[in-house]
Amino acid sequence: MAPVRPDQMLETAAATLRPAPTAVRKRVTVLGATGSVGTSTLDLVGRHPQLFEVVALTAHSNVEALAQLALQHRAALAVVADESRYGALKEKLAGSGVEVAAGATGLLAAALRPADYVMAGIIGAAGLRPTLAAVSQGRRVALANKECLVLAGEIFMKAVRQAGTELVPVDSEHSAVFQSIAGADPASIERIVLTASGGPFRTWSLEELAHATPEQALCHPNWTMGRKITVDSSTLMNKGLELIEAYHLFPVEPAQLEVVVHPQSIVHALVAYRDGSMLAQLANPDMRTPIALSLSWPNRMDAPTKRLDLVEIGKLSFERPDEVRFRALGLARQAMRQGGTAPAVLNAANEIAVEAFLAGRLGFLQIAQLVAETLEAAEGRGVLGSAQDLGAVLAADAAARKLALNLLGTGTLSAAQ
Ligand code: NDP
Repeated sequence: MAPVRPDQMLETAAATLRPAPTAVRKRVTVLGATGSVGTSTLDLVGRHPQLFEVVALTAHSNVEALAQLALQHRAALAVVADESRYGALKEKLAGSGVEVAAGATGLLAAALRPADYVMAGIIGAAGLRPTLAAVSQGRRVALANKECLVLAGEIFMKAVRQAGTELVPVDSEHSAVFQSIAGADPASIERIVLTASGGPFRTWSLEELAHATPEQALCHPNWTMGRKITVDSSTLMNKGLELIEAYHLFPVEPAQLEVVVHPQSIVHALVAYRDGSMLAQLANPDMRTPIALSLSWPNRMDAPTKRLDLVEIGKLSFERPDEVRFRALGLARQAMRQGGTAPAVLNAANEIAVEAFLAGRLGFLQIAQLVAETLEAAEGRGVLGSAQDLGAVLAADAAARKLALNLLGTGTLSAAQ
């Protein structure tokens, strides 16, 4: 038999990867379609109409953007969570053939509509129920909403196992770990290192941080993201939430999770093995890279991202995070170790604090202060307990929000040092 030339082998491999003209397209649903992750997902999906078709799209209240995306991507269903916006959405999509729904039941209907891939891109605790509903389908869930794992990690991962769902992390750090850990024996893993850009205030003193404004916090040096996660990046709470996320996603103990500040945001995470090796994933900071992976894994698809030029970058640097100036990281680590409902309380207090900071009602350093005092108050009132079921988690979330709002409203919050 004539030997196969390398170029022929490559051609054969390429032919098997190329979709056949009659290939069935992947049905895609995007929860949180109007957000930063949602629009990046739809940007990729729209570039490959031969590979994907859109089933359902959801938003909270932005019906203008939702209607436009639904028409552009020929979605079967568009859902607005805010029921008061139902009429406006219906009007915008009248005669288009796109089905319209609203409210919590609408969100669940979108998540349960048969699909091969659901992007969980809703922000905050509001994403928990719809994402759990998507998980129950037993197909692929691309997880951007880290709050699902922060609030209810054990419950969520149990639901994933029970339904046989393929969970693909989308957070760039967790996507990097997912790729660097693929197929590894858990016993061979020594530790996981998540990198953090350090945010816009990396070099600021405590005195300067006390006067940091929302506008300054929203100027992330490397990433373009939604407002809430951008503020979380500036406090390093985002990295804290990511530690908890990593703890539930990967076979490691809290002590095996480390954070390193890496201002260039090129290396997204590293996995250290017992033989001294470290595996890392590198890419320019663009969420379309991890989202593309979640759409195509175990294969790879084209993504229109800027390619890395290592010589142009020249230098990659790493620093230890400063947990005195960025207290949120330590608070999250403590909640992770404590377990039970502590992470849900941490998350709820942080959501309230970030909203108040963005509204000009709270100083930058008081974000972590409010979280710390809510955790303390929750402990004193017996809110911290076991997260045995969804009811317990949601009750802790609600109680923590009330405590945080009380601390805010009564003005009893101590001046943050
Ligand atoms: P955005 O704020 O940009 O978008 C949030 C989306 O969720 C919007 O579609 C919004 O609708 C919808 N939404 C907001 N509140 C509700 C609610 N109560 N009920 C239903 N839908 C709601 O967020 P991001 O895209 O930045 O983040 C989404 C998730 O992905 C977060 O959990 C974040 O931590 C995570 N993530 C984001 C990254 C990023 O680069 N942005 C990176 C890694 C993780 P509307 O537009 O109508 O308000």
